[in-house]
Amino acid sequence: MTAENEQALAVYKEKVAAHLSKHRYEHCLRVSDYAVKLAKQNGVDVKEAALAGLVHDYAKERSAADFLEKIDQAKLPASLKKWGNPIWHGVVGAEFVKDELGIKDPAILQAIRLHTTGGGHEEMTTLDKVIFMADYLETGRDFPGVEEARSLTDQSLGQGVFYQLAHTLSYLASKEQVIYPKTFDAYNDWAAYLQ
Ligand code: GDP
Ligand code: FE
Ligand code: FE
Ligand code: FE
Repeated sequence: MTAENEQALAVYKEKVAAHLSKHRYEHCLRVSDYAVKLAKQNGVDVKEAALAGLVHDYAKERSAADFLEKIDQAKLPASLKKWGNPIWHGVVGAEFVKDELGIKDPAILQAIRLHTTGGGHEEMTTLDKVIFMADYLETGRDFPGVEEARSLTDQSLGQGVFYQLAHTLSYLASKEQVIYPKTFDAYNDWAAYLQ
């Protein structure tokens, strides 16, 4: 990162830190760093990747009441209201980033919206894939298979996306959790595409 890029990020770092616990703020810094690494490997604008990584979980610690209010205020589909924080902090979180941090770049907002569920292979831009994978692989993550997922993603960003989708789906199903349809759709789309 150049000094100029660091300076541009500093303003946002303060605002993100003010809205998150230390633990989650540090996760955001690591996602930003890992996103820079993946951006360089995949020809993505490093500045955009660093900023999107930093702010991707900006709204994660908001209350349910705040998300429900934002869904109405931003005129998002009312059907979103039956979901919870895991889905809201990305899809609705992008609206907080736009309104409170003043980040209007549609590419960054889309990367935030898709960072939990992913999206189809045509829907996801390279930046979206970079943020989706940086969130999963940042250096603080430690789950069985994380090293395999890191080396697969170094070889092929798309293969990494599919690995994460498959593993997240089977994890959620093993815990008998409700699965958001977009997560299923993304998995099916990448499975058909990569076969
Ligand atoms: P984090 O915000 O850095 O913790 O990471 P993510 O935004 O990627 O994920 C947040 C949580 O949402 C994780 O526990 C995921 O397993 C979970 N998650 C991902 N997809 C779905 C889904 O379709 N349904 C539900 N209920 N949870 C999901
Ligand atoms: Fe998240
Ligand atoms: Fe994620
Ligand atoms: Fe995250």
